[in-house]
Amino acid sequence: MVVGVLGGGQLARMLALDGYPLGLEFVVLDPAEGVCSASVSDQLQGDYDDEMLLAELANKADVVTYEFENVPAAAVEFLSGKVPVYPPPQALATAQDRLNEKTMFRELDIATPQFAAVNSLAELEQAMDQVGWPAVIKTRTQGYDGKGQAVLRQVEDLAPAWESFGGVPAIVEAFVPFEREVSIIAVRSRSGEMVCYPLTENTHREGILRLSIARPGDAMQALAEEYAQRLLSKLDYVGVLALELFQAGDELLANEFAPRVHNTGHWTQDGAETSQFENHLRAVLGLPLGATDTIGYTAMVNLIGDFPAVDDVLVNTHSHLHLYGKEPRAGRKVGHINLRAQSRNALEAELKLILALADE
Ligand code: AMP
Repeated sequence: MVVGVLGGGQLARMLALDGYPLGLEFVVLDPAEGVCSASVSDQLQGDYDDEMLLAELANKADVVTYEFENVPAAAVEFLSGKVPVYPPPQALATAQDRLNEKTMFRELDIATPQFAAVNSLAELEQAMDQVGWPAVIKTRTQGYDGKGQAVLRQVEDLAPAWESFGGVPAIVEAFVPFEREVSIIAVRSRSGEMVCYPLTENTHREGILRLSIARPGDAMQALAEEYAQRLLSKLDYVGVLALELFQAGDELLANEFAPRVHNTGHWTQDGAETSQFENHLRAVLGLPLGATDTIGYTAMVNLIGDFPAVDDVLVNTHSHLHLYGKEPRAGRKVGHINLRAQSRNALEAELKLILALADE
């Protein structure tokens, strides 16, 4: 079986690495030369809206998936007329626009911060009464890793924030004084089977994920699963979905979802019975899903901008290094380290060493 992937970055690479034991082959479509997945997949090089290349991809692949949510919706629509494409185009269209996303949370009774759509400075000024201070303004589309957003603390912040976005449609939402950020990685197969991984606790800095810790047995697991399952069912979803939430008191507020394998699920490669990558492939191919139980206690530390000497990482015998084959560059995710330990205490002690290695 051949799996087609829109995008040839590290997520495509890790999908391929976990697909080979299942006898799968991979072909990616990506405009860039020398993509991350190049050593483990074939590549069609060109634009995502090139219909000749999309048709070639559909011809070569038995099923097509995607590794980032900013692929043009029209490309996915075009492909889905020729070959099964999962997750479904509706999930992609919803996740691409923060307004659609938050509206869907509301419809499904999934708690989310107060929000309002804003299309002008006047609307922003008005919306502040409804949303309250402080607030966060975000572009409706194309934002990632904290880009395309600004915190609003006083009236004087409104005009500069609005102008810095160049007047594109935006959403303003209440700033949540959260105790922690968590995510739930959920999977739904073509037959409708659903499984979730244990909750993941996440730390971001400068809008970029730095650290994820798996929290099996967490008190918020049941609520997070309930929310994720509502989304999966509503979207008739197939594949892995990551739902990111803020915890404030005993409440979980949905921030956003990603219709794909997700950075906060990378720990599953070494810390779960079946990785998120393998389960995504199983789901899109209509195969039975694998168990999501943890193996020991696991955390993941992102390597941003640069990576330490390989020996320095591996000298800690419980660390598992994943490098993406990318040139180091400021702010770029170039790899991650999964750490696995026999107890929560051991994990916390070893995590300090790994965080220091990653300059965290
Ligand atoms: P996002 O691009 O929506 O995932 O936001 C990136 C990061 O900004 C989040 O992981 C949070 O740390 C922070 N953030 C986003 N929205 C809010 C909010 N409404 N309240 C507080 N922090 C937020």
